[in-house]
Amino acid sequence: MDPRPAAERREELIDLYREVSGCQKCPLAAGRTQTVFGMGNADADLMFVGEAPGFHEDQQGKPFVGRAGKLLDELLAEIGLGRRDVFIANVLRCRPPGNRDPQPDEIEQCKPYLYRQVDLIEPKIICTLGNFATKLLSGSQQGITRVHGRPQERPVGEREVILYPLFHPAAALRTPSVHGELRQDFGRIPALLEQARQQPVAQEPEPSQLGLFG
Ligand code: URA
Repeated sequence: MDPRPAAERREELIDLYREVSGCQKCPLAAGRTQTVFGMGNADADLMFVGEAPGFHEDQQGKPFVGRAGKLLDELLAEIGLGRRDVFIANVLRCRPPGNRDPQPDEIEQCKPYLYRQVDLIEPKIICTLGNFATKLLSGSQQGITRVHGRPQERPVGEREVILYPLFHPAAALRTPSVHGELRQDFGRIPALLEQARQQPVAQEPEPSQLGLFG
């Protein structure tokens, strides 16, 4: 485990936020209002990774602020958590035009930012929301319908984490049965967290918040 103090990692996360704000690595930069870096606890044990900012996220510079975000907040509240307890990011940091699917070159350009976020936040569990995040972080082409609700140990960048694939909340809003499965899978998060926290760590970091994102 990385023994780096939480305060030091938090400062680097803020540096990364500034770097991402000026990113011009792919054509999505031209169409964005602003980048959506992610938000939450800079020292969270639990991280969520969605797909890409939509209209409202692009306007506000925060992830999951539309209808899917409301559902995510509800599901978090049901397990006794809020945005201040977790960190929420996306595969992409800029809105694709018309909310189209992320393209492979865009994912490739944005991937190092996600890996650096994971490296600095040091989550124990990463919940991937939907196919794009799940396929990217699992390194497998197996779709979310097959793998949701099944935790898997995976390296993400430099870190070994528990990946916990979940349906995307937007899919749950469209399909009642998916809604039920997402809620059921969410229900297992507290036990998974408890289990992951019991694994020995080299040093317990101090809790810290990124004021900007919390
Ligand atoms: N959907 C996502 O995947 N991410 C967001 O930030 C908002 C909606």
